[in-house]
Amino acid sequence: MKKRVKDRKQPVYERIKNFEEVSFGYDEKQAVEEAKRCLQCKNAPCIKGCPVEIDIPRFIKEIKEGNFQKALQIIYEKNLLPAICGRVCPQETQCEIVCTLTKKFQPVAIGKLERFAADNSDVPLSCSINTNPELKNKKVAVIGSGPAGLTCASELIRCGIKVTIFEALHKLGGVLTYGIPEFRLPKRIVEKEIRRIIELGVEIKTNIIIGKTIKIEELFQMGYDAIFIGTGAGLPNFLGIPGENLLRVYSANEFLTRINLMKGYLFPEYDTPVSIGEKVAVIGGGNVAMDSARSALRLGAKEVFILYRRTEKEMPARREEYENAVEEGIKFIFLVQPIEIIGDENGYVKGIKIIHNELGQPDESGRRRPIPIPNSEEILPFDTVIVAIGQSPSPLIPKTYPELKIGKNGNIIVDPETCQTNIEGIYAGGDIATGAATVISAMGMGKKAANSIINYLLKK
Ligand code: FAD
Ligand code: SF4
Repeated sequence: MKKRVKDRKQPVYERIKNFEEVSFGYDEKQAVEEAKRCLQCKNAPCIKGCPVEIDIPRFIKEIKEGNFQKALQIIYEKNLLPAICGRVCPQETQCEIVCTLTKKFQPVAIGKLERFAADNSDVPLSCSINTNPELKNKKVAVIGSGPAGLTCASELIRCGIKVTIFEALHKLGGVLTYGIPEFRLPKRIVEKEIRRIIELGVEIKTNIIIGKTIKIEELFQMGYDAIFIGTGAGLPNFLGIPGENLLRVYSANEFLTRINLMKGYLFPEYDTPVSIGEKVAVIGGGNVAMDSARSALRLGAKEVFILYRRTEKEMPARREEYENAVEEGIKFIFLVQPIEIIGDENGYVKGIKIIHNELGQPDESGRRRPIPIPNSEEILPFDTVIVAIGQSPSPLIPKTYPELKIGKNGNIIVDPETCQTNIEGIYAGGDIATGAATVISAMGMGKKAANSIINYLLKK
């Protein structure tokens, strides 16, 4: 069996000085070569590993035969955001981990092939429209334009339902636009895939905060027959330790939004300066921590450290992005926990007091619990701190519409099979229902909710 084909990347010494995409993806020859590794398994475990059940062997076969348009058409049957998913989905824990080749060799690079098909073909989305005349006069309001909202909206409009997306920000895309940096997910790619969904006929209303500008109840009065809430997990978690209000302490959410949405990395061309010191500490071990650390490096920090309370093995970040971060010179300090951020006389950060941890028994997440070692405190010098320890569900709609049933983490409770909330006609999905998760899980829920809304409207 041939080895998995490696993608082409920007050399490290160049990419740490710019925000352009790190991976160039496959060229035609590489894609065809990688597609030939697929065994075309009859039982295709990869399909079951994909939360939206793309017919993986069928699209890979088309790439192998050089039919790139056909490959994309097959992907579109299940996923309208393939250039995005091909870049950021954690394939290594989904379709690729169950690939038959994984047992003895490396899995087929399903994500990179999906990205190749999306980047190298152009199929009109109208090819996948299937209008139901009974639904022609129905109207649905979708709140939030992240992957959950976009997927729900596109599934509904493909059946002929009129859909309006209400988005609080001035740009569409949710975390795809304001969170994940350009060097991992170029915004022209996000804009291109969103534009195609808009072209299906979805009405867009930006700068509208549902719960403030318009209340949930008012949407029904405005004639919407059903509502989908896909407002994500936009509330940053904080450490809750002394010193978090010092200057140059950022939440990852604010730091990345300034860079991505407000184009801080293009200052002074764009008017968003991002103040960064020479020695940066990022607290956390997920994708958000990796993105923050690699962005800080590109903004000119001399040294960037990730401080994580467990070990490399338990880090939730995608392996590929961890490896990219290591290649780029990000340093890792494992088994430490900040207990205080220390400031100087001007109110700026000058260090972090940490305590060392050891690992105990697994906790409810299945990962071994970090336990502080008594008397192991130490002060490490840093002049910038970025807190990337997770986000909680956006609280505005639950607060302003208390009839909705909420879980203990502030998430909207939904029926897992239908994504219906406790209120008739209101559905929810994505991070607002699960807490911070992944693009593809948000898309999966958006799709599930759309199917339930269709059934609900047909009965209504
Ligand atoms: P979001 O993408 O958060 O979108 C919600 C939208 O709703 C936003 O546009 C918001 O402005 C809008 N909104 C909120 N409240 C209102 C309101 N009241 N009225 C109107 N609009 C409102 N996942 C991966 O799979 N792979 C990765 O590599 C990855 N990297 C990540 C990196 C970062 C920095 C972050 C923050 C997350 C990352 N994730 C990754 C997680 C992934 O992006 C999310 O799970 C996903 O975007 C959730 O989608 P969503 O549609 O539920 O919400
Ligand atoms: Fe191809 Fe792997 Fe899917 Fe088998 S499991 S069809 S080898 S991608």
